[in-house]
Formats: sequence, structure tokens, C-alpha cells
Amino acid sequence: MPPADDRPTQYGPSRGAVELTTVALLNESSPDPLGLDVETMRALAHHVADLVVDHLAGLRDLPALRTGTPADLEMALGGSLPRSPSDPRAAIADLTEVALVNLQHGGHPRYFARVPGPASFTGVLGDWLATGFNAMAASWAGGSGPAAVELIALDWLATFLGLPPGTTGVMCSGGSLANLTALGAVRERVGPGVCYLTDQTHSSVARALRIIGYPADHIRVVATDARFRMSLDALDAALGEDRASGRRPTVVIATAGTTNTAAVDPLPELADRCDAQGLWLHVDGAYGAPGAATTGGRTLLAGLDRADTLVVDPHKWLFQPYDLGCVLTRHPGLLEAAYSMSPEYLADVTARSGEIDFRNRTPELSRRARGVKLWLTFRVHGADRIRDAIEAGIRTAELAESIIRRDPDWEIVTPAQLGVVTFAHRGAEPGEHSSGADEVTASGIAALTTTTLAGRSVLRLCTINPLTTADDLVATLTALGLSLPDRRS
Ligand SMILES: *Cc1c(COP(=O)(O)O)cnc(C)c1O
Repeated sequence: MPPADDRPTQYGPSRGAVELTTVALLNESSPDPLGLDVETMRALAHHVADLVVDHLAGLRDLPALRTGTPADLEMALGGSLPRSPSDPRAAIADLTEVALVNLQHGGHPRYFARVPGPASFTGVLGDWLATGFNAMAASWAGGSGPAAVELIALDWLATFLGLPPGTTGVMCSGGSLANLTALGAVRERVGPGVCYLTDQTHSSVARALRIIGYPADHIRVVATDARFRMSLDALDAALGEDRASGRRPTVVIATAGTTNTAAVDPLPELADRCDAQGLWLHVDGAYGAPGAATTGGRTLLAGLDRADTLVVDPHKWLFQPYDLGCVLTRHPGLLEAAYSMSPEYLADVTARSGEIDFRNRTPELSRRARGVKLWLTFRVHGADRIRDAIEAGIRTAELAESIIRRDPDWEIVTPAQLGVVTFAHRGAEPGEHSSGADEVTASGIAALTTTTLAGRSVLRLCTINPLTTADDLVATLTALGLSLPDRRS
């Protein structure tokens, strides 16, 4: 047996056994094997900040999306497990020059694919702060500051969207987990029964229902109308059939801004039915809900305030870096009833005055302080500026629509709504749209994707980035093959 001080310790080999590796950057006076001295920390932090700001400043001139091959990425970044320290600047350079260029730059002004992520720099700063302070938002006792910030940010968000006073909720990683978290709590509240959604509902919702344990015959896909909204007639028929055959309708799952076309299900009519028939109204506003803060969007999204549970993704249209999704509900105690980890835990005290343990509102226990970035963004920019940034995205899709209409060989399939427009080349060959989108994306000029609507392939632009200009649209559409008059007059 080796002498006592040669034995490995819980934190690594004991000092007596191993000669300390001397790298200039390591603080040899520190007992922490991972320690850096303060000046090195400061220099590296400034270096990282410079890299990020340089990246953002030059983003417009980079490809909107780049995809590496597994072999190239493995070659540049892999190899055997590093055994000893190395120069952090060289490692950081590998990240910024290889790993972090091979991605979708969701904040690029010509990134129109799926849903862009035009994160504000203020949001980035908030995340940096929360990470740097390693802020935990699991319990009041363990992080009363971050918990208060999360509560306030949720409250500001609810006010921003015009939701009723007393609305509260929880933050999670995104729309998928927010839907799962909300619907898990709803299932606990309403018991087993049938849920109603449409063929335009985001696929994360049906997945969430399956995870929660809904059998396939309790997930009812209701037909949509010509504008891809839940058909009320089809819903009424489905409710009637289910009741007649002894099934119990429980939850209507509406979408406020579908991912395909930003269609909004008829929320007031659905809310009326839910009220009259004792059904729960869950609204997936992961993409579109922020539109409710704008003048035009408020009308389109009327009824959003009647949702029993609502999902919003601030990492989409509220300018937050990944990740941030929110569950909002006007039913205090709903989430605690499902997720409280101490059975004797009492119903929530009112949100603004109480001490909230967020671990009791979500399946997460240890959780990052996601509220910090949203709080900072609301605080620094204010609701009016954020509303203007959302409006800009709505107007950009309208502008795209008007540009596309100038070429008679192309047609609008669904008009611009909440920042999404879909269109098609008249008489397109099968596969033409997707190969066109792929070519433009591979060229680096822009990134866009297709989708399928009622069996028809269409091109789609999601234009929520306030940086996007008319020239960006013209460049993208020209690259796709539209023939457009030289420039706007
Ligand atoms: C994006 C989206 C989701 C999923 O959100 P993630 O943040 O990607 O998990 C769910 N519903 C709708 C309507 C969406 O647009």
C-alpha cells in the first residue's frame, strides 16, 4: 500500500503522487486542478466576448447555414481523450473556426428556414451572466434572486401578450418540453380522455401525449379548413362521435401560429366550446404567440387570453438565445399539483408575493436560470421596442409576398401571416422546390426550406429577423429563380 499522501483522492491523484503539470495558464498556487488565475480568466473572457461580437458583426457576410461532414468534423475536433492541459486559445479557435461555423445561423438576415432564432445581444448577455454566476433556479432557498427574476419575466411576458392578471408558469428548454410539461399537468388535472389536435399541430405535441401515456385512440386528429385552421365542424363532429361511443373528451389543443403557415386556429370559438362543454383549452403558441403584442397580431390572435395553458418559445420570436420555452397558465397551482416533489407541499401562494420553488412546477430539479436573459431583454429594450421588432417580421413577410407576386410564373400559396409566407413555382416538377431550396442553401446566399401543404410541395419563408431587408429578400428570391424587376422603385 502506498503512503497515505500518494493515494488518489476524490478529486484526482494526490499532490504527493504526481508531479504537477506546469502550464503557464494554470494557477499553481491554487489547490484547484482546474483553476485559472484571475488575469488569465479576464483575458480569456474578453477574448471570447470579442470572438462573439466579431462573429455577430460579420454574420451578414457568412453563409446562412453550413453543414460539415462527420469525417471532417471528427478529424478537426476529435482524437483520443486529451490527457494533459493545452492552450485554451487554440482550443477555443477550434471551436470558433470549425464547430461553431458549421451550424444554422438563425440570426443571419437571410436565414428563413424552419423558424429562425434572431437572438438579441442583450439576451446573450443575460445568458452569459446566468451561466457565469452558475445561477440555479430550482428552489427559493437555493436561488431566490433567479427565481424572482423568472417570476417577474413570466409576469412581464404575460402582460406583453395581453394575458389575464395572475397568469404564471415556468420556463423550460423550448416548445417541445413546454408542451410536455403543460400537458402532463393538464392530464393530472382533467384525468384520462380524448385530446383533439389537427394535422397542422406541431409533432412535439403528439409525442408529448404519447410520453404522458395517452393511447393512440385518445389522440384525435381533427381536419383543418382551407386555411389550415382547425375545422369547427370537424371538431364538433368528433366530439359528438366520441361522446356517443362512450369516450370522454377532455382537451382541445389549438395552435396559435402553426409552424407550416402560421395559421391560427379559431381561438374564440374553441374557447366558447371548451367553456360550454367543460373542456381544457391548451394553446401551442410556441411560434406565433408573440404576435399578440402587435396591433395586427392582436386581432388575429384574439382569444389567446382564454387559453387554460399556453406555450410560448422566446427563443423563436422574442429574440432570446437557445434555449427558452415557457408554459403559462391562468390556473394557479396547476403545475404544482403535477410536479410537486413533496406531497405535503401546499398549493402555491400568489406568484408575486410568494416564495416559489420552480422545481415543483416542472420535471426539472437542477435547472438553469433561464429567466435572466428574458428579464434583461424586457428591462433594457422595453416592450415597445420588442413589439417593433416583432412587427418588423410581420411586415417583412408581407413585403416578400408582394415581391413574389411580381413574377407571374410564381404564386402565393398561403399569404403572409405572422411572419410566414408560402409560395410555389406554377407547374413545378416534383422535387423542384426542395432542390431549389437546397441549392440556394448550399450556395450560402440564404437558407430556406420547403414544406408540404395538403399534399403539395411549397417553398416557405419565415421572416422574423428584424435585420432582414428588402434587398435580402430580392437576393434570396432571385437565387431561387424568380425574375424580379431590378430594384424597388
Ligand atoms: C417550434 C415549435 C415547437 C417546438 O419547440 P422547440 O422549442 O423546438 O422544442 C412546438 N410548437 C410549435 C408551434 C413550434 O413552432
